Amino acid sequence: MECSLHFGQVEGWAMKLTLSVIKADIGSVGGHVSPSKHLRETVASYIAEQGTRLILDHYVSYTGDDIAILMTHSRGEGDEQIHRLAWDAFRIGAEAARQEGLYGAGQDLLKDSFSGNVKGMGPAVAELEFDERPNEPFLFFAADKTDPGAYNLPLYLAFADVMNTPGLILSPRISRGFRFVIMDVNHTTGDRVIELDAPEDLYDIAALLRDPERYVVVESVWSRAGGEQAVAVATSRLHNIAGKYTGKDDPVMLVRVQMDFPATGEVLAPYAIGHFVGGCMRGSHQMPLMPVTLNTGISYFDGPPIVSCAGFCVHNGKLTEPIDGFAQPFWDTVRGHVANKAMEIRRQGFIGTAMLPMSELEYTGIAQKLSSLDEKFHMRVTEKVHAIN
Ligand SMILES: [Mg+2]
Repeated sequence: MECSLHFGQVEGWAMKLTLSVIKADIGSVGGHVSPSKHLRETVASYIAEQGTRLILDHYVSYTGDDIAILMTHSRGEGDEQIHRLAWDAFRIGAEAARQEGLYGAGQDLLKDSFSGNVKGMGPAVAELEFDERPNEPFLFFAADKTDPGAYNLPLYLAFADVMNTPGLILSPRISRGFRFVIMDVNHTTGDRVIELDAPEDLYDIAALLRDPERYVVVESVWSRAGGEQAVAVATSRLHNIAGKYTGKDDPVMLVRVQMDFPATGEVLAPYAIGHFVGGCMRGSHQMPLMPVTLNTGISYFDGPPIVSCAGFCVHNGKLTEPIDGFAQPFWDTVRGHVANKAMEIRRQGFIGTAMLPMSELEYTGIAQKLSSLDEKFHMRVTEKVHAIN
């Protein structure tokens, strides 16, 4: 465990519990690889010292170059003081990163002053509020070098596909299906959402999720048996905030498991595919998503895109120690498979589907290059004037 401090249990727990995870890239060692030990400790110490009256427990970890702060509390989603606590921890961390000379210090802090909520300011946030079950297992996912659409396929498979999730036919309550809230993150007038129910709307859900880059990502998933929220995904697109490429969104996600929700293994199973996602080098490529152990850095081709999973139980707001969802030996074979896929598509370099479509690249410098070339184009005349000889 990177760092986790436990505060006192709350007697006679009756309030709703909120899980808030807020993450940001505020600087890393050796390029976009991983934050320094000093930076991680600076953020963790700030939360431990300043969060005593606000939060019940916390866990600070890193995945690639991102630091994530997972907090338990009873203040509800979007709470200004919780968000300010994380913002201030990242701001102080960014200053420590600058003093160390880390690369990209303060990169994801896109605004100068806090305005009540970190959404729209650079850090990614996912939050779940619920009545704590007698035993409350959940999974915390963090991905680096990719964007929120990376979770589209794993969530579709885990919550809507019997081939992946036998619970959909073996458990009468899970068999009632799930509601997907899907967000159009690139709509011109701002983010918009649609609610669709599995299994009735399965083909509509698939039609939207097939394009995780340009239009839609899963924002949340809800149990239709109990009406409870199962999943919360960070949906922020940094280029929508900054208007230019400032780094990939690197989404975090919270997933409640068991009982009315899929089993842990059903949620983890789709990551054995190593499906292609947007991201990796300069945020501009299609590369397979590699499940990695907690606190793993970045390497090959500024990637590959990675996802980690920390599993917890929470009781009266107090977290157990994390279990590492992708440390078990099974995943070593998956990692080898994903590495081979990554090297195979890299043989194709910059051509065609190896890179993202222009809708994603328009936030990079290639837009200027194509614009300058556009001026040099001229209409083809009937005779071939450039013919050799
Ligand atoms: Mg990152």
